[in-house]
Amino acid sequence: MKGEKDYNLDVVINQREIEQRVIELGEIISQDYASSESPPVIVAVLRGSVYFVVDLTRQLSVPFHLDFMGISSYGGSSDPFGVVRITKDLEVNIYGRDVLLVENIVDTGLTLNYLLKNLYTRRPSSIRVCAFIDMKARRLIDVPIDYKGFELPDLFVVGYGLDYQECYRNLNEIASLKVKPKEKN
Ligand code: 5GP
Ligand code: MG
Repeated sequence: MKGEKDYNLDVVINQREIEQRVIELGEIISQDYASSESPPVIVAVLRGSVYFVVDLTRQLSVPFHLDFMGISSYGGSSDPFGVVRITKDLEVNIYGRDVLLVENIVDTGLTLNYLLKNLYTRRPSSIRVCAFIDMKARRLIDVPIDYKGFELPDLFVVGYGLDYQECYRNLNEIASLKVKPKEKN
């Protein structure tokens, strides 16, 4: 039918599950950083992680600094080497600081691997990674994830910051997006 969407959205993580898990992550992370000598620097990766990092940091009971790093993949998100271009660098100097890198999804792991390598050259005291979604089945390179929200199988998901062509970031749930097979006339 004309104007009908040629794809389906199926909720795979609902709003309540997200809220509950974010509270749990906030508690665990607060405990782990409670004895830090100086506030950790929370580095959120633009743009998809914004929704998650806002909710997560509101659950923290420890002081922290919040900063952002903007990246875009060379040649689209499927760059085989995971080389990303930094479109916005940190404003905080992370030398000697504890860093918590917040990502919304770790898929092949190439982006996270590149980001970690980049951040380690700045000689922080530590880096931990918090990823809202871990898509382990798609991993091409081993990357450390210290805190994870959910593990999902190989799906293309949108919502809670994740987009499809810049749409659906504002969904309050995570949904898988499937292209419908074309109907025969
Ligand atoms: P990587 O494959 O390097 O681990 O992930 C690169 C980027 O691809 C992620 O930061 C995210 O922006 C995007 N990506 C990977 N899997 C998905 C997915 O299922 N849905 C959406 N919307 N983006 C994804
Ligand atoms: Mg991203």
